[in-house]
Amino acid sequence: MMQWELSDAELLALDLDLFSTDCERPELCEGDGGHTSSRSTESCCTGHGTAEVTCSANEQSSNQQNVSEQESDPLCEGSSAKRRKCDGRIPLERFGRKHLSVTDLSRQAWCEQQVVYGMELPHIQQLRDEVPVVKAGSCLHLARELEVQDIVPINVESREDNWAVKMLNLLSMIQFLQAGERVRELPVFGELEGIFVVGVVDELCYNSKGELELRELKTRGQRTYPSAAQKKSHHLQVSIYKLLFEAMIKGQLNKDTITHHLHLRTDQPLGSEIRVHAQKVGFTINTFGDLLDLMLLNLTYTEIPSIDTMKIEYCYQADASVIGTEEVSFEEEWVKSELKHYSSFWKGQREAKGVDIEEAWKCRSCDFADICEWRRSKAEEATQKNRANQCK
Ligand code: SF4
Repeated sequence: MMQWELSDAELLALDLDLFSTDCERPELCEGDGGHTSSRSTESCCTGHGTAEVTCSANEQSSNQQNVSEQESDPLCEGSSAKRRKCDGRIPLERFGRKHLSVTDLSRQAWCEQQVVYGMELPHIQQLRDEVPVVKAGSCLHLARELEVQDIVPINVESREDNWAVKMLNLLSMIQFLQAGERVRELPVFGELEGIFVVGVVDELCYNSKGELELRELKTRGQRTYPSAAQKKSHHLQVSIYKLLFEAMIKGQLNKDTITHHLHLRTDQPLGSEIRVHAQKVGFTINTFGDLLDLMLLNLTYTEIPSIDTMKIEYCYQADASVIGTEEVSFEEEWVKSELKHYSSFWKGQREAKGVDIEEAWKCRSCDFADICEWRRSKAEEATQKNRANQCK
């Protein structure tokens, strides 16, 4: 770690271009299928291979439309903080989100304000997703996925089709898990703190003791372990996966929760490619509601055990070598209180928060540092405090 001979206030106020670019950055989590994912497609595992479906273009364009509508409102001109205040909608609605990804929540642990800027200025976020280091991470994930399953493209015709692919993936993977096999890129979803949350678990398998083990792959630009701040975000991520997965296999997901949050139509006929694909893996379904019932029934009667162990494997991107593996202990109270705190922002119960002054070092690697109002106000606050101390 570099040693800075600067006060926090000076650090916050510095021209960030002066810093080198190899400092700590939050890593993008892969595979959540949310807007932060660098992959434009998500894969579907089946007993006969895998299917690939394009991301919900409708949802993405509606997100962008919502943001641009807000930006062009002449009554809401001025700083983005002013525009946010002027907009009466809660953040979830303002960003046109029917659900959050686990990545959204775990990145809040790094800097919530950064997550908000990423949604308000998606073109900057997309540039980040395109950087070689993120792309290399995606390739490693894909290579691992292909070790256990093939990918087959499937055309989707509606939002219900898009979700049908996730559910067919899940149904297939439940069968594999019941047979004691390893699965990768397992979709998990459900309601947490009144918000629908969606994620993709890198890997679930049985260890030598016969326990179900969750494994998450994190790729690193340097051959070092991440900082404590990054680890916190990773621990939160895998802990949310465990919460979602266990609620699913305990039959706690229900039809109304899914259709209400996601605005999906149960009577929507599924596209021809989805129906053919479902038939190949042994399911005869016609509508989205048929598949939903089938999935919920399977989840209710499945005999998959709870996750006993959670491990995060850190890999060096340049040569895919393993830096090390860390075991994460599940602290239910901590996860639930973090979730309560982070979700209160999305529900409009409080304003977004940037980093505390002790963590001002995070701003050095932030793409939004030049425009960040939080950083500016903290710098002013700290300068005033310093002045007041000097006058004493
Ligand atoms: S500049 Fe700092 S406070 Fe602002 S969004 Fe970036 S990391 Fe967060």
